[in-house]
Amino acid sequence: MWHRIEQDISESTQKKFIIEHRVGVGGGSINTTYRIEGLKQCYFVKINAAECLDMFVAEANGLIALADAKAVRVPKPVCRGVTNTHAYLVIEFIAFGGAGSPHVLGEQLAVMHRHTQPEFGWYCDNTIGSTPQINTPSDNWTSFFREHRLGFQLKLAAHNGYGGTLQRKGERLMSDLGSFFEDYSPPASLLHGDLWGGNHAVDMDGHPVIYDPAVYYGDREADIAMTELFGGFGSAFYAAYHEAWPLDKGYAVRKTLYNLYHILNHANLFGGGYASQAESMMDQLLSEFR
Ligand code: ADP
Repeated sequence: MWHRIEQDISESTQKKFIIEHRVGVGGGSINTTYRIEGLKQCYFVKINAAECLDMFVAEANGLIALADAKAVRVPKPVCRGVTNTHAYLVIEFIAFGGAGSPHVLGEQLAVMHRHTQPEFGWYCDNTIGSTPQINTPSDNWTSFFREHRLGFQLKLAAHNGYGGTLQRKGERLMSDLGSFFEDYSPPASLLHGDLWGGNHAVDMDGHPVIYDPAVYYGDREADIAMTELFGGFGSAFYAAYHEAWPLDKGYAVRKTLYNLYHILNHANLFGGGYASQAESMMDQLLSEFR
């Protein structure tokens, strides 16, 4: 496989590449990841089972879409492919660890979200973690989110044995979903789609970097909500984002709705306490109807 990757990199970059050194990189949750070094170049490689090629193609497409927005730095995809046993994705290796200014990421993310299109969704499906994420385009955000985000995860949850009250509450939420959008109709913004703290860093020149995306066009509140889900990005980030493009006051309620998608996904991927966390979030959201 490594020889195949060397050849693929050499062809894609038109520069002969031989791996001199290979180091495992931790921190991911889905793939096995490596830094590979040649004499002059260094790349980041993700490896998974052969059937994961589509996931890597979609990830590379997402990185290209984010790079085209010319807002936040993302690693450039180099090549991807499949052997008998493994799929791989090779992207630019970026050394992290510079001193960052969170407000810069806030400003840049607002610029990225200004990239809009008429329809919600995207031209290809991708994955959130390793779960399929359906992006069939729609001109109606409420029905897109109902069907392809909450509905999809709820069906998976039923399949994974989370029935009963979780399903009943989820169904109530889905049937009343419109009430969260009565006075609010967001544009379809280019989203990172999986913007938790583990998917952003700062390069050695101090520029923010985002990676490992699950790109689609949707309500920008969904990206901001996720930044708050596992720790928060710091007050300077939020202040800069709000200054560049203020959020609607209904965000305070909708952020729980948007994060429910990710918590349901965590329940489906990892089990544990996430199903009961999802149910508490549903309770909180349903209490808004009373
Ligand atoms: P996974 O697809 O398994 O979730 P990640 O994309 O999160 O893997 O990558 C795992 C870790 O590797 C990240 O937490 C980050 O620290 C590091 N990393 C990701 N992309 C790059 C890159 N392009 N260059 C350098 N390090 C990276």
